[in-house]
Amino acid sequence: MKILVYNLKMNLDDTIYDLKKVTSKKIGVSERDFASFKIVKESIDARKKPHINIVYSVMVETDRKIRIPSKGDIRVLEDVLKKPFVYGSIKIRERPVVIGSGPAGLFASLILAQNGYKPLLLERGECVEKRTQIVNSFWAGGKLDEETNVQFGEGGAGTFSDGKLTTRINDKRSEMVLEEFYKSGAPEEILYKAKPHIGTDVLKKVVCNMRKRIIDLGGEVRFNAKVTDFLIKDGKIEGVKVNNYEEIHSQVVVLAIGHSARDTFEVLYNRGVKFVQKPFSIGVRIEHPQELINYAMYGDAAKHPRLGAADYQIFKKFSKRTVYSFCMCPGGVVVGAASEPETVLTNGMSEFARDRENANSALVVSVGPEDFENSHPLAGVEFQRRWERLAFQCGGRNYAAPVQRLGDFINGRVTRKLGSVKPSYTGKTEFSDLNYCLPPYVTDLLKKSIAFFDAKINGFGIEDAVLTGVETRTSSPVRILRDDNLEALDIRGLYPAGEGAGYAGGIVSAAVDGIRIAEKIMETYSNESL
Ligand code: FAD
Repeated sequence: MKILVYNLKMNLDDTIYDLKKVTSKKIGVSERDFASFKIVKESIDARKKPHINIVYSVMVETDRKIRIPSKGDIRVLEDVLKKPFVYGSIKIRERPVVIGSGPAGLFASLILAQNGYKPLLLERGECVEKRTQIVNSFWAGGKLDEETNVQFGEGGAGTFSDGKLTTRINDKRSEMVLEEFYKSGAPEEILYKAKPHIGTDVLKKVVCNMRKRIIDLGGEVRFNAKVTDFLIKDGKIEGVKVNNYEEIHSQVVVLAIGHSARDTFEVLYNRGVKFVQKPFSIGVRIEHPQELINYAMYGDAAKHPRLGAADYQIFKKFSKRTVYSFCMCPGGVVVGAASEPETVLTNGMSEFARDRENANSALVVSVGPEDFENSHPLAGVEFQRRWERLAFQCGGRNYAAPVQRLGDFINGRVTRKLGSVKPSYTGKTEFSDLNYCLPPYVTDLLKKSIAFFDAKINGFGIEDAVLTGVETRTSSPVRILRDDNLEALDIRGLYPAGEGAGYAGGIVSAAVDGIRIAEKIMETYSNESL
């Protein structure tokens, strides 16, 4: 019998033995009769500072023949028989092509490979090992590589990230994503922590192992293979063109190109793929000392080794727009995330240890089609580009990012000297006035929201907090329309997937969308002829 026990509140100094004892008492089964014991969720409850609890859900298996009713925090699980998957009957002619090795493309490829569909995964950028060298060289002042950068290359946009594996979508496939990450080398704790994260260092290993697994299962992965055109005839995809010369034929193409593949968006648009505009958010990165955030969130317990670097999530609704924190990176750094020449944009990343001096987060304001210049489906891309180019100019036209003390931003003056917080930006920085790099309706709301956030997180509004600009790639500015079969509207066999297509926001939800697409392909086609 399997028993799920929720809401076990423990103290910071309690051990696994204490947890077992409390569980045993709660369900009335002696620890000696536990056939297995597993933590399935662990979260921190800091609502009643200074008293902080760690709250667990656990799964106990026991062979004892006793009756335990499902009640309150206790649930006895019935054995549920899984329905077998029914594969489609249309014989697939050629192996499916997956474009993009971000989470959506990687997971679509992995699931297809696990089921014998031998996918061909095409990635415009380099493998993660070479990508790391190229990105580091750009950050050190080298040339921007337009095909391999923080947005493009093996692992996709989230490879240089905090590797947060949280999601707001309610889809059972999220568990599958975490399990596959675990099988590819992520630590076991991601399976039960309420806010799992793996950091850039672990994520790179995981991505590399996933590639190896896809190849071992009969798939193929090609780097420096940019899809430059789509072969579409009579409302059906027939294949793709790679690097302007090589034609690859396939009746199934997964389009997992992410939100920054602006050149590919244009090719698709010109080939008749239907796009619509989509809201997203823009703003700045804000940095505080991590210690300040730890203390604001955990009070006197902040230094307890069980707690680690604290995170936060804040938002303030104004009449038309919302200001909110996005992609917060505890103990991390702010990264230069450009993928186009003469643009500057930011994002954040951290390592598994989250042990750097600053906490950073995007502080962004919602924008939408009403703010774009015209009704062209790709107008949101142009809108992003405009602020990214201004940031490039404000930074001195050499990829330095414009930075400003929060106090100076509020008073509209260029910073002359930094205070207690030093920018962690991975490249060069230049003092500037970020009020010139963003629309006034964004800068005004950012300023107005600081007092509200300071009331929630004591010290958030310190004048020495550092702002770096600009943050523009919070999510896709477009959605590619797809039908009930998850194919692009009016184009059979072309499957838009993940964040770039407008169906995900984050690593896990993009991966889940990739799995859904793979399942749809398998429901439609059989792999007999491969
Ligand atoms: P992407 O990851 O963008 O992958 C698209 C891939 O397609 C890229 O590898 C690209 O090179 C390739 N491609 C594009 N065009 C072509 C073409 N024409 N031919 C061949 N290949 C092509 N999310 C989180 O959940 N947690 C985080 O901590 C987090 N931190 C982030 C930090 C940073 C610095 C960034 C940039 C993003 C972060 N995100 C985070 C967001 C997350 O990375 C994205 O939501 C996710 O990667 C989207 O997955 P995707 O597969 O849809 O697209």
